[in-house]
Amino acid sequence: MFDRPLKILLVSSEVVPFAKTGGLADVAGSLPKALATVGNDNLGNDVRVAMPRYRQIEGDTYKMDFPVPFKNRYETAIIRESSIEAHYQGERKTIPVYMVDNYHYFYRDRMYMFDDEAERFAFFCRALLEMLPKLEWQPDVIHCNDWQSGPIPLFLKTHYLRNTFYNRIATVFTIHNLQYQGNFSKDALQILGLGEEYFHPERLEFYGTVSFMKAGIVYSDVINTVSRTYAAEIQRPEFGERMDGLLRKRSADLYGIVNGINYHEFNPRTDPRIHRNYDQYSIANKKENKFAMQRELGLPVRDVPVIGLISRLVDQKGLDLIAEIIDKVMIDDIQFVVLGSGEPYYEKLFETIKSRYPEKMGLSIGFNAILAQRIYAGADMFLMPSRFEPCGLGQLISLRYGTIPIVRFTGGLADTVSDYNPANGSGNGFGFTEYSGMMLLDALNRALKLYREHSDDWQRLVINAMELDFSWARSGVEYIHLFQEAMSKHLAIQRIA
Ligand code: ADP
Repeated sequence: MFDRPLKILLVSSEVVPFAKTGGLADVAGSLPKALATVGNDNLGNDVRVAMPRYRQIEGDTYKMDFPVPFKNRYETAIIRESSIEAHYQGERKTIPVYMVDNYHYFYRDRMYMFDDEAERFAFFCRALLEMLPKLEWQPDVIHCNDWQSGPIPLFLKTHYLRNTFYNRIATVFTIHNLQYQGNFSKDALQILGLGEEYFHPERLEFYGTVSFMKAGIVYSDVINTVSRTYAAEIQRPEFGERMDGLLRKRSADLYGIVNGINYHEFNPRTDPRIHRNYDQYSIANKKENKFAMQRELGLPVRDVPVIGLISRLVDQKGLDLIAEIIDKVMIDDIQFVVLGSGEPYYEKLFETIKSRYPEKMGLSIGFNAILAQRIYAGADMFLMPSRFEPCGLGQLISLRYGTIPIVRFTGGLADTVSDYNPANGSGNGFGFTEYSGMMLLDALNRALKLYREHSDDWQRLVINAMELDFSWARSGVEYIHLFQEAMSKHLAIQRIA
């Protein structure tokens, strides 16, 4: 029915390479490249991206400005433009990135965590919708991501409902992490330009707040998450962050597509950030990355198993399990390397461990994309014992670099990592299900045993990991089908209305 290239607008509050705090930015920067290059007729799709224009962004150019109806007045939006490039059948394809700017809302020293988040992101959503007719570009589907773009499906079903330019546009709302919901006081209704009647449990009201995440879930044509397991988990109270009932109600419209990673950027054969390039045919070179990393982090340069961890340091990541077992792990002749930043409690925790085991632990507190690659390349094992994990990118990057993931089987980790089976060599990592330190220790010990006692099998495991395909190739096609599904559902609703 939609056997033609699609016009897709992807909306995200952060996009690599312009602004990043987490995995969402990686997805928003790499998924469009995949979408631009898959299609029914091999022409690819017309994909464009919209994001806020934060102060630190450089290299973009002025495109237009116009007044946006907002909070009973008009507020100026300036649209600036940049681009990301996709490579397709030997040709370059340019994907426009529209950046919504407003001096008052976005000219600040960081991206998030201000008192007026509701206002900033409601403005962002309203401005980019106002931009579309001025661009004379009518997308078939708007792909919204996380709470910052939740008002878009809401606006389309309220302020723009009877406007013929907008009412054919379908929406997909992807939840990258249900924990961050964008819940605000009731005053947010006025910011959204909506009346009291929207403060209702069937609409925006969420335990006494106005929830932008809920706006996305209630008003989009299709809801999506970043793995099938997480899509199932969030319909249960343990993972549902109080939205499980709402999600169960829309379960017929709820999907899960696992993220990919950009296999050109994350390629140990060509990655300029690592010490020595390697691939599955020159695996011996990986060891030089270990030694270089040990040197960089001030550790003794030795051929011992190195366990890496690169993470936001927050409760979600299961770091308390590490604290529980660290003394038992450190008895072994191993090294543990951590790169992360986040809650002071966890930063201090790792600093304390480092002070107790200075010869065994390498620690870097902060966000450092170059060091991250050096750890992915230099470590032997990669730790992700997450309490919950919508998709997780760390395990995908580590597999690509032949660094074996040790994970808790939850969300996307369950969908991408499987336990190594010594009987037949199947599996690509090590894992555990019950959230306990002992189970983590058991998985770690199984990995260390294989590394030490069966180095041929370990080598095979590493090569297998590097040969897996977690690029966007498959998930990109799944997204196209999802967009078509959203367009069908949107059309069906319109017919009824
Ligand atoms: P989340 O989105 O919950 O933070 P993901 O695993 O989906 O977790 O994505 C995290 C991304 O951010 C990965 O690409 C990881 O390598 C990167 N990352 C996390 N912490 C750091 C850090 N301190 N320095 C550099 N990169 C980091």
